[in-house]
Formats: sequence, structure tokens, C-alpha cells
Amino acid sequence: MRTLRFYVPLEFSVGDVIKAPENTARHIAQVLRLRVNDEVTLFAGDGMEYRAKILDVSKKQLSLEITTAIANSLESNIRIHLIQAVSKGDRMDWVIQKAVELGVTSIQPVTSSRTHVNLSVERFEKKRLHWQAVAIAACEQCGRNVVPEVRPVAALFDVAQGYRAHSSMQKILLSPQSNAKYRHDKSTADDFLLAIGPEGGFSDQEEQQLIALGFESYRLGPRILRTETAAITAISILQAYHGDL
Ligand code: SAH
Repeated sequence: MRTLRFYVPLEFSVGDVIKAPENTARHIAQVLRLRVNDEVTLFAGDGMEYRAKILDVSKKQLSLEITTAIANSLESNIRIHLIQAVSKGDRMDWVIQKAVELGVTSIQPVTSSRTHVNLSVERFEKKRLHWQAVAIAACEQCGRNVVPEVRPVAALFDVAQGYRAHSSMQKILLSPQSNAKYRHDKSTADDFLLAIGPEGGFSDQEEQQLIALGFESYRLGPRILRTETAAITAISILQAYHGDL
């Protein structure tokens, strides 16, 4: 049976007895129907994995004893920061889930001139929390013990400006308008910034602004990919050439 893994953002060490957060407790007790002495794996985002034994289980509460701590990093040797234009429906969920499985370090959702999703700050914050939960669930499933951060939604230009000083990063803009194919042998970077446009693409002006801020623009073949396909393809290419695929 696959190990049952749960993200529990607490600090703990071997021998500690902890109470699981309410939603984790409910999932373990009522959905999975685990019982006293059953074992689960916990991770807190510090790169460690903790084995834990169920000590007590009731309707609302679940206590666990941490029995073993294991250093188990599944992190890539490169860091990929994904700047993803917010897309409609559940496409963002899909991108976030797959990007986490493929080892991204952080996800920065952005708005741009052709972004069709325009929400209030509060609604975007609710969405961010949802996307962060998607990232956590992907870590639980794929074995990562470090949870990629989903950053607050921000405007494309502000984000690109914010990375201006990060000169050792390779900044990549994916654009069907580009004539250049990605040449892996030209890169010595360990940190990559990847910008993917919305369904309607970035405007020419936005692409020019990114290029002026140090982005190189590349094309992923002759076909127009959906925004989520482009993101996953580009991450896979970077991991295959420089990382751990
Ligand atoms: N309607 C736009 C396409 C947008 S596709 C147009 O015709 O130009 C959405 C995003 O996915 C793009 O902004 C780009 O970042 C990425 N993308 C899609 N296909 C791509 C390709 N063949 N090469 C590079 N990037 C691509």
C-alpha cells in the first residue's frame, strides 16, 4: 500500500506527541478509517519526513506520536520559478498540480492585459489559498517534503520588475511569436524564471517589456499550445536538460 502522507505544518521531533489539525484528523479517522497503532507519514515542509503512530483517535481529535525522522529530499538541483498568467476555470489547479509534481520551487500567478480573470483582492486571496492547498495535496501525493509557495496574485510587470536584480537567474519568456528554440547548452544557471501567458497570450508590449527586463523569448515548436500545456512542457524541458528528469 502507498504510504499515507500528510502535510502538518508544525515543528516536531522524535518522541513528540502531537494533535493533528482538525481536517487532517477527520481525513485520517473518518475517510481513511485508520485506527490506533496505524502508521502515517508526516511532513512539515522542512525537507524531513516523520513516521508517526496513531495513539488515540476519537471523532474530532487524533493524537500521534512521532517515531522516526528521515531526511528525504526529492528536490531538484535546479530551481524553477513559474510565472503563470491566471487562467480560467480549473486550468490553474491543473497547472499547479503538475508543476509541483515536476519539481517547481514557486508559483507566481500574474494578471496581464489579456487575463480574463479579474477579481477583488479578497477573492484572489481565497483563490491563492485554494491553489496553495492544491500544491500541498500534490506534495502529499508525489513524495515532496518541501511545499512550493503559491505567491499572492500580482501584475506581470511588477513581478518582472521585482526579479530585475536577480542577474544570475535565466529568465525565459515563452512566446509563439519567437523564432528561437531553447538552447540548453548555453545555460549555466541553477535558477530559472519561466513566464507563461494567458489563453490570449501576452500582448506585444508586455513581451517587449519582459525582454527589456532581461527575459529571453523562446518558442516551443510550431504549434500553439494551451497555456497549461506550455507550462508543463517548459518545466519538463528544463528539468530534463538541467535538473532531475
Ligand atoms: N493566442 C495566442 C496564444 C496564447 S497560448 C497567440 O496566438 O499568440 C498561451 C501561452 O502559452 C503563450 O502566451 C505562451 O506563453 C505559451 N505558448 C503556447 N504555445 C507556445 C509555443 N508554441 N511556443 C512558446 N510558447 C507557447
